[in-house]
Amino acid sequence: MSQFETSAIRTQAEQSQYREHSVPLYLSSSYTFESAEQMRALFADEAEGNIYSRYSNPNTTELIDKLCCMEEAEAGWATASGMAAVFTSLAALLSAGDHVVACRSVFGSTHQLFTKILPKWGIQHTYVDINADDEVWIEAITPETKLIFAETPSNPGVEIIDLERLGKLAKAHELLLLIDNCFATPYIQKPIRYGADLVIHSATKYMDGQGRVLGGLIAGKKELIASVEAFARHSGPAMSPFHAWLLSKSLETLAIRMDRHSENATKLANFLEANEAVESVRYPFLKSHPQYKIAKKQMKLGGGVVSFVIHGGLERGRRFIDALQLASITANLGDNRTIVTHPASTTHASLSEAERLEAGIQAGLIRISAGLETYEDIENDIKQALIASR
Ligand SMILES: *Cc1c(COP(=O)(O)O)cnc(C)c1O
Repeated sequence: MSQFETSAIRTQAEQSQYREHSVPLYLSSSYTFESAEQMRALFADEAEGNIYSRYSNPNTTELIDKLCCMEEAEAGWATASGMAAVFTSLAALLSAGDHVVACRSVFGSTHQLFTKILPKWGIQHTYVDINADDEVWIEAITPETKLIFAETPSNPGVEIIDLERLGKLAKAHELLLLIDNCFATPYIQKPIRYGADLVIHSATKYMDGQGRVLGGLIAGKKELIASVEAFARHSGPAMSPFHAWLLSKSLETLAIRMDRHSENATKLANFLEANEAVESVRYPFLKSHPQYKIAKKQMKLGGGVVSFVIHGGLERGRRFIDALQLASITANLGDNRTIVTHPASTTHASLSEAERLEAGIQAGLIRISAGLETYEDIENDIKQALIASR
């Protein structure tokens, strides 16, 4: 198998009769057959090929092939958004009466799936704290437990869980392990190496990297992806060929972008840690991170997201955001452009203070997705906003 960057660039759909160098966009909802017999064989799964773009398309197939190289996975599937990837994975693998053990620090919409949507079909969950030891995880497992779900690093708290430990736990209890690998990307972290059965991505974030499209990806064991496919073919969360075409081109530069995102985020984390307006900083590769050793073990780099707690709580957090001049205030991350959010006054404003703290979100928590602008410009903007918010 090729090295990471090479397969990201050289995994391509077959060339057409026009001998193009860059893979074209196949905007076609369906594909034709030479005969009734060929159509029958494709529908009967006796032959490979495209039938209908809800099932497959040359652009989504290329993207999935690339993802499999990057994640070292046997098979994959593409969906319209990251949440479609999370929901499709869970819906494909779980039945009424099943139970999930999930890490409490999960993405907001994933939390809504566990607490509001899956219970409609009799699927229950138990949350475990990201820092809990094995006994707590084992205690949460019931005879109905089918899978473990976790996200690392977590959004927005940048907390980390030991993938090797989770992999062993899942294996010992014959459970499936699903990991949301959105923050790290396969360039930085490969959960399958630690025993993850499915790896899930919001391709909207670093995979696109430029804040243009929504997309979701699932990679993992062949037989599990077959279940995902059986569910998705008929329920329809398909990725558009245009988004697949765009995302596949974006992945050509994932490695080089993640290097720079991580470099800028590391510098920013060090700058923040030395600033008197800052109470604490969370970044995987800072020695002060409570799971620094685990981060070093399972991550190649620290990634692009830094979170910090500003002195002065909620109101100062709001003033800090309002004082920014370069960084964008927007509900995305993993973009070329630096993005700053204040969860307590925005995404998590509806939670009580106690609920927020349980989710690891202090009133003064600020999440920065370090972009690819000149580092000095990013730092200067954060510096002046810290002063202006006093
Ligand atoms: C954004 C995000 C998702 C959801 O992805 P969408 O593409 O917005 O649907 C899931 N998990 C994590 C960790 C995310 O950051």
